[in-house]
Amino acid sequence: MVGVPMNYQRKRILIYSVLAGLFTILLLLVSIGLSSSGYRLWGSSAAPALVDYQVDAQIDESPSQAPVEVYTFVEDKPVPSLEITPDLPLIEEPKLPAASTVTLDTYVPVPAPVLAATPSAASEIKGTIQSTTKPAPMPSKISIPVLNYHSVTIDPGNVVVISPAKLEEQLAYLHNHGFTPVSLTTFISLIEGKGVEAAPEKPVLLTFDDGYIDNYEQAMPLLTKYSFPATLFISPGTSDQEGYLNWEQIKKMQEAGWDIQPHGMTHPHLPQLSADQQAYEILEARKQIEEKLGTKADVYCYPYGEYNKTTLKLLKDHGFRYAFTIEQGYATNQQSPYLLKRLFINGEESLKSFIRKLSTHD
Ligand SMILES: [Zn+2]
Repeated sequence: MVGVPMNYQRKRILIYSVLAGLFTILLLLVSIGLSSSGYRLWGSSAAPALVDYQVDAQIDESPSQAPVEVYTFVEDKPVPSLEITPDLPLIEEPKLPAASTVTLDTYVPVPAPVLAATPSAASEIKGTIQSTTKPAPMPSKISIPVLNYHSVTIDPGNVVVISPAKLEEQLAYLHNHGFTPVSLTTFISLIEGKGVEAAPEKPVLLTFDDGYIDNYEQAMPLLTKYSFPATLFISPGTSDQEGYLNWEQIKKMQEAGWDIQPHGMTHPHLPQLSADQQAYEILEARKQIEEKLGTKADVYCYPYGEYNKTTLKLLKDHGFRYAFTIEQGYATNQQSPYLLKRLFINGEESLKSFIRKLSTHD
């Protein structure tokens, strides 16, 4: 009985001391392990929270701070780089006018990309084109509006006919806004660059086609009122027809300051005619005008605006100086002398539209 409790007590002591030894070894192992990873044994219960916090903080801070810095840095960079790029064409700009001897035709395509990149530079470049081409051997561009009228009467809906009231409105506009209608002789001098010093500020040539009798009855008195000269293109073959001017009237218009020039004998479609027929139409009209009026009639106007190579050759071979088309635009010294443009006056258009047309350069 006694032996049993003795053994039991010894066993308990033994077990406790073994457990104590194991615990001590465990503690030693733990302490060695933790100390090698840099953490103290004490407060190890709080350590995981600290470690977690620190790790979290590092993870949170690094992604939130780093991208912001990178972002603002990246954002900052393009701004100065954007400011630099527009500067590049501006720096190149002065180089363009340096090529002052380049002709207008080859020069124009060069600034095209620059114009697209910086619209504000467009006007500057245009300005330099004009100023740099002026001193070039080629004469500077001379543009003169040539207005193209026909019949002057009341015929609503007919765009080729202008009412006397509307014609007067337009003449008054020209008079009040510094335009100077010029004679054909003055027009030719200006387009040839002669007497430019004495040139009126806004020269304009008024032309009337076909020789309608209303030009004598309606237009002439109005032009006389404003002391405006004009040019009349007639087809002498129509001079005895009703509604057309006769030679007596034509003579009076010439005396009133109108230049009388040929428009074919019978107002033909020239390209449909043989060379001989064309020659007759062109030369006979000139001959009759020169004989009847004692003037030079070497400025032609194509009936219907139509011509072909034969027409152009005839005009050249027979010493015509200029010819007017119905191509729309200002007449300029850069056009062929046989292909001068005009501005068609639509009898139905408003004064506003007339003004816009007059101020639109080609
Ligand atoms: Zn005509």
